[in-house]
Amino acid sequence: MMDEEHGEPQTPPAAADNNSYILGSMGKFKVVVACLPMHQLGAFSAAAVAKEMFFSFPRIRVGMLVGIGAGIPNDDNDPDIRLGDVVISSSPESGGVVVYDFGKKLADGSFQSLSVLSRPPRSLGSALGKLKAEHEMHENKVVHYIEEMLEKYPIMRKKKYSHPGLSADRLFQANYLHVSGKTCAKCDTSTQVEREERLDENPVIHYGTIASGSAVIKDALTRDEIRDKHGAICLEMEAAGLMNNFPCIVIRGISDYADSHKNDHWQPFAAATAAACAKEFLEHVQPKAVDGEPVVKDILNQG
Ligand SMILES: [Zn+2]
Repeated sequence: MMDEEHGEPQTPPAAADNNSYILGSMGKFKVVVACLPMHQLGAFSAAAVAKEMFFSFPRIRVGMLVGIGAGIPNDDNDPDIRLGDVVISSSPESGGVVVYDFGKKLADGSFQSLSVLSRPPRSLGSALGKLKAEHEMHENKVVHYIEEMLEKYPIMRKKKYSHPGLSADRLFQANYLHVSGKTCAKCDTSTQVEREERLDENPVIHYGTIASGSAVIKDALTRDEIRDKHGAICLEMEAAGLMNNFPCIVIRGISDYADSHKNDHWQPFAAATAAACAKEFLEHVQPKAVDGEPVVKDILNQG
């Protein structure tokens, strides 16, 4: 998704930094990409990666957490979240991310969240407004950027980075459990939730609350409980570790519905839609506005 790739850093990262990086440019910005170590997902890992990044790149001012997440459907299909869609953290009440599993149980049995997460930086917040306004008039560029990527790296088609097909997006009723096997081939189609047919494969970008927690959710009833409690439309595991250490927004491509039918079939395409959306988002961020943000290292030193 980079416009220019600059490879790995020429100077070795600082001694305290164990991350590996890819450098490049996207639009008007120089970009540093750090990935979470394989099999080490979750908030602690994300916080560690971000912290170490600032040793080697002390001038970083803002960030984006980009990857896959689970979509949370709702009875009214509003928002109508499908696999391959993108959710961007944004909410006037919560700031965009809530932690659903850190808090205390009150005497009446209810749960009070104790974690207060920072809001996204101003420069990214205003760009979000512009992106949203743009899509009132024009189709988003997610498909366009994915096509560009697949033309440049044709092998990615074989690796399932192209759209898996609308019929491969199956949402089952919350109380219907997965039968068996890696796919839903044996699952009863009559228990699928009826949804309006999408006319094309263009992913939709949704703006709302992302619920972050320490467990992989594979249970529709737990998922729906989190939705009802926090008004969340997406579930993931890393944002909670990042929001207070790194002024950022979270962009998640939807790869499953956090139910027992969860599998990895949509993961490559969902990762691609999130990355494509991040690229388009960055086009609306003003370099001047980012220059006005404090460098992250200074914020951390104050804290
Ligand atoms: Zn199934």
